[in-house]
Amino acid sequence: MKRLKRRTLSEANLAATDRFDVVVVGAGLAGTAASYLLAKAGLSVLCVERGEDPGTKNVMGGILYRQPTEKILPGWWKDAPVERPIVEERIWLVTPDSMVQGGFRSARYGEEPYNAFSVLRVKFDKWFADQAVGAGAVLVTDTVVEDVLRENGRIVGVTTGREQGDVHGDIVIAADGVNSLLSKKAGLHPELAPHQVALVTKEIINMSREKIEDRFLLNANEGATIEVFGDSTMGMLGYGFIYTNRDSLSIGVGALLSDLIKKKINPNVLMEHFKSHPMVKRLLEGGEAKEYMAHLIPEGGAASMPPVYRQGMLVVGDAAGLSNPIYREGSNLALMSAKFAAQVCVEAHERGDFSAEMLSRYQTLLDESFIMDDLRGYSKTSSFFQGKPQFLERYPEILVDALHEFLTVDNVPKRAKQRRILRQVLSRRAPWELARDAVGALRALT
Ligand SMILES: Cc1cc2nc3c(=O)[nH]c(=O)nc-3n(C[C@H](O)[C@H](O)[C@H](O)COP(=O)(O)OP(=O)(O)OC[C@H]3O[C@@H](n4cnc5c(N)ncnc54)[C@H](O)[C@@H]3O)c2cc1C
Repeated sequence: MKRLKRRTLSEANLAATDRFDVVVVGAGLAGTAASYLLAKAGLSVLCVERGEDPGTKNVMGGILYRQPTEKILPGWWKDAPVERPIVEERIWLVTPDSMVQGGFRSARYGEEPYNAFSVLRVKFDKWFADQAVGAGAVLVTDTVVEDVLRENGRIVGVTTGREQGDVHGDIVIAADGVNSLLSKKAGLHPELAPHQVALVTKEIINMSREKIEDRFLLNANEGATIEVFGDSTMGMLGYGFIYTNRDSLSIGVGALLSDLIKKKINPNVLMEHFKSHPMVKRLLEGGEAKEYMAHLIPEGGAASMPPVYRQGMLVVGDAAGLSNPIYREGSNLALMSAKFAAQVCVEAHERGDFSAEMLSRYQTLLDESFIMDDLRGYSKTSSFFQGKPQFLERYPEILVDALHEFLTVDNVPKRAKQRRILRQVLSRRAPWELARDAVGALRALT
């Protein structure tokens, strides 16, 4: 096993490199984590990123979880550019003029070593990539990988948009995100269908620390998240979010691409609809929109995953469809899959075996972990809720109207109110429909 000299970003010269033990495509969370672990294990690793800098092309809400990230870099949060530790998570169910709220706040989440942090990827990814370069990985930015390189039908590297840009590697890790070009080029999956992805738009809104802490009822250096279901997505499957950074808010809203197409709703219109909701609007007042971006999220869970390995190649993170949006998880799956991929690359190099059989160990590690268990569950959830707009339209309205009736003090006896509520509910949804939806939702979520 050869060990590469450390090279910094500016010294990295793609044309001068010959071959690497591993070529990683994409310096997002998965690609950088794999590069860091591989370099630390003594393998020569090249990471190729199309953005000018790591983080410039990446979109995340973005809540980053301490423990999974610690599996890559113990104690990372002490040095990393994090925004706020999250102490409170709220869920809103909204109709056009009302909101039902749930949530959890814990003082424990406000203490070291914390549970999760809000981050801005443009800052975090750059810092993270610096750790990989520091460990010995070669990072080349501003370079698009265009295809896999084949010799006698075997994958032996990648071709890039650069002159003399062919790079050889015993293993290629595709960490190029959702709708991975590299997996498609390697014949692992076709174009994703619109029901397999959500399209999310995100804005960063500048706001003073004091205003954020005041509005979200936070102490200094505490953060909160709000997930908004119901009218926020105009009846489409998806949700909106508001996360607090140090001196900005990350807000976003997204829905299944197939729903957006079917309803002919422009994502910008959806964002404006979300921002103008009375409960959302008052939180954003006085803020100044700084950045606007859009991105896809893999939606299908285990059922939509492409094969994640073949001879000479592994697929990690969003590129492998590893995403569990209902629990706002994706970063952790990207990082853990990168850890498993790095482990398998090290084992493959020790044996000098880069066959599909050897690399299938990566699939086994995914199968044995929480990842596939959760993603199988998510497939069930996602397929149940697709095409059932009543959960985001009719039921929130029924619930809000019932609460209005119950909480309006108008000299009507409470029992009469309960009977009135029941009559109202049954006039809008038949008992058998309610029972069918309740049982289905319970099954889909457990
Ligand atoms: C709006 C939104 C909000 C989200 N919120 C959260 C959240 O709060 N918490 C959470 O855990 N997850 C969240 N996720 C999911 C999370 O962002 C992803 O799961 C995670 O970023 C996946 O990491 P990755 O490294 O696999 O892919 P990415 O971070 O997408 O990285 C892929 C990288 O590959 C590069 N690349 C692509 N093609 C090429 C090419 N051909 N050549 C060279 N480079 C290439 C890209 O430029 C990019 O840097 C969110 C996602 C979105 C879209």
